[in-house]
Amino acid sequence: MSCPRIEIDLSKIHHNTLTVVGQLKGHGIDVTGVTKAVCGHPAIARAMLNGGVKNLAEARLSNLRRLRKAGVTCPITLIRSPMLSQANDVVHFCETSYNTERAVIAALAAAAIQQGKVHGIILMVEMGDLREGIMPQDLGAMAQHVVDMPGVALKGIGANFACLSGTAPDAAKMRAFSILANDIEGMCGPFIQTVSGGNSANLPWAFGGHATGRINDLRLGEALLLGCDPVSGNHIAGLHRDAFTLVAEVIETDRKAVRPPASVANPALARLSLVPTCTQQRLILALGHQDTDIFGLSMPPGHGLIGATSDHLVIGDDHSKLKVGSEVRFHMNYSALMRAMAAPDVATNLCVDRTALPEQGRHKHLALV
Ligand SMILES: *Cc1c(COP(=O)(O)O)cnc(C)c1O
Repeated sequence: MSCPRIEIDLSKIHHNTLTVVGQLKGHGIDVTGVTKAVCGHPAIARAMLNGGVKNLAEARLSNLRRLRKAGVTCPITLIRSPMLSQANDVVHFCETSYNTERAVIAALAAAAIQQGKVHGIILMVEMGDLREGIMPQDLGAMAQHVVDMPGVALKGIGANFACLSGTAPDAAKMRAFSILANDIEGMCGPFIQTVSGGNSANLPWAFGGHATGRINDLRLGEALLLGCDPVSGNHIAGLHRDAFTLVAEVIETDRKAVRPPASVANPALARLSLVPTCTQQRLILALGHQDTDIFGLSMPPGHGLIGATSDHLVIGDDHSKLKVGSEVRFHMNYSALMRAMAAPDVATNLCVDRTALPEQGRHKHLALV
């Protein structure tokens, strides 16, 4: 099998999705599966759909196209504000997008009229993350503007947390967001279908026993893929963390000095370092910064990160059992996963571990551990 590669256990993603979807259903919240970290990989999208997500969401049109090309027909929402230059394609490939800009909404409306469609608009509201979003006090006017515009329909409002500034959602913020849905309905009439409260960072709030109010959707990527709370990095109990494994091949084993020889600019030190006092057993792997976020890999037991360059990863090896040609397996955090999935030289290999399929009623309560 080719290296480097990501081994993807679809049954674990299916299990994670089924578990979270089941838990959130009790709170009146549907799950939108976010596939951007896996570049819209169709098999992963299907594992999420089989696990009970109703819709998918993507940040990039290229990934959205990949899903459509593979025959995924469910509604897919564009969660990154569309580029003005892509308005035509956005209307062509998806029925709804998240928006914050009047000029973009006008372009989507024009494209929709031309294509004989009505494009759904979800207005993203700024609730403290300071990334994209309309200020709450401007939301009413913007909603009215969308309602009055032919070619587009107001489908909902959305909030996003803990992406740019790490602001986690709390009960007060979520209550305020929920009230906005009622306010908008009172102001401009139509029922607000989707009230999308946020991403994986919202799960502690959602499982925390707070009233969920009008919030009826969460857009989840990391929790379903990696079983992880993005704010704390904590494992979400009952979910698999190891659906993805990055496998790389050893291309050199050696024993080298712990510290490099001193710079020749300092001859006194250079002479001292001629006799290396401390060496270590190392492995060099055919994997580098071009393939993943090296700092987002968890080193296997007995191995420590020494350093990496664009194409080489150097790790310490306490056991020195591995030879040239051996494979080393790593688990990845979100950043490592997303970059590895997008790297042209990293292959993907799908597998389904039947033993990981969920047992009926086994994980009754999700908790952060
Ligand atoms: C990436 C993203 C998500 C999903 O975030 P996760 O932390 O992976 O659950 C949801 N909404 C928006 C707007 C995003 O950009």
